[in-house]
Amino acid sequence: MKLDTRAMRYLASEDWRVLTAVEMGSKNHELVPTPLIEKIARLKGGASGVHKSISALAKVGLIARVKEAKYDGYRLTYGGLDYLALHTHSARKDIYSVGTRIGVGKESDIMIVADNQGTQKVLKIHRLGRISFRTVKSNRDYLKNRASGSWMYLSRLAAMKEFAFMKALLAEGFPVPEPIAQSRHTILMALIDAFPLRQISAVPDPAKLYGELISLILRLAKHGLIHGDFNEFNILIKEIKVTTESGEEALTLEPVIIDFPQMVSMEHQNAEMYFDRDVECIKRFFSRRFHFTSTEPGPFFKDAKRAMKKAGLTRLDATVEASGFTKKMLKDLEAAIREKEAMKADGNNSDEEEEESEEDDDDEDSSDNGGEIIIGVANEVDDLDAEVASKSTEDEVQ
Ligand code: ADP
Ligand code: MG
Repeated sequence: MKLDTRAMRYLASEDWRVLTAVEMGSKNHELVPTPLIEKIARLKGGASGVHKSISALAKVGLIARVKEAKYDGYRLTYGGLDYLALHTHSARKDIYSVGTRIGVGKESDIMIVADNQGTQKVLKIHRLGRISFRTVKSNRDYLKNRASGSWMYLSRLAAMKEFAFMKALLAEGFPVPEPIAQSRHTILMALIDAFPLRQISAVPDPAKLYGELISLILRLAKHGLIHGDFNEFNILIKEIKVTTESGEEALTLEPVIIDFPQMVSMEHQNAEMYFDRDVECIKRFFSRRFHFTSTEPGPFFKDAKRAMKKAGLTRLDATVEASGFTKKMLKDLEAAIREKEAMKADGNNSDEEEEESEEDDDDEDSSDNGGEIIIGVANEVDDLDAEVASKSTEDEVQ
């Protein structure tokens, strides 16, 4: 699955209205029956107008027809949800054009986008329900048992949670990309001009960088948080040129952390395991890549927890939990993320290979658009869109 904006500019305003109607209908229908789509869309052209739009949308794969024993209906596809999110970002003037895709993971697509000032940003599209062919083969039961449609709910939750954490972390002065906006399963954030640690073959002072990364783990812990995936892919290294007192040019390295949907609280029942895993990940990487091993043991979870209690700082785990997530939402999301992790471990023993050999799993990569695509939002956002846009930010999930 990848974002494909080609059909976007050809959609008429009625088509957007019908697409939005399918989205609204899917809040309580796995398959949205055609009469319901008609009712929600309330097109001036009546049923025939709706049918015309339905065919247009189905033709470009934004909705899909599903025949079931009880009734036939339509469901929104990932493509359809991508379009709706882009439409919202573009109506808010946050995105004007979509450029190249810079990353594709199992859980997300990362796109470079720009606003109409030409400022580049990053759009992260969560794809939590996505399962690769490789893993599908060994997970047929998993697929069978999965409530269909939950990909939309889970991807949306992942985006909401990540956005909430990024805001809270930035407010506390943590080095994270500035979160700009969230719509449905997508997050818009500042583009960091940096490479992931993974791509850096040598650093002038490994001990210093190691110390900084461990400090970040401990600083998160003081605020009640464990990143949960603190690895060389999720740490970007900014190179900053500085002039030393003696007038020489030197490079300083500044880590920026990304990727937060799996963050856990220091009070989580498996907190110690996640904490140790994050620490171990950095240790292993520094020893393999830079042949650096710290002479100090730890840090240890027990000490970090004690420090957290003593410090009495704002508890970001509580802040985020208080920001509109129900216990059920957090549990659902966590279960999906852990399932995914388990599948990853099952399908491939080496994380590194997994990340490196990542390729798109379903559709042909027909248009990795080298150039940018302008989003054609020729049609004004009408009241229904506005209604859904506000609805979807307030009560994204039923
Ligand atoms: P995933 O959940 O799929 O791992 P990430 O948020 O870790 O997604 O992003 C995947 C990759 O995309 C990162 O390793 C990084 O190279 C790039 N990336 C993500 N966000 C940004 C950003 N704000 N600026 C620059 N590059 C980014
Ligand atoms: Mg990542």
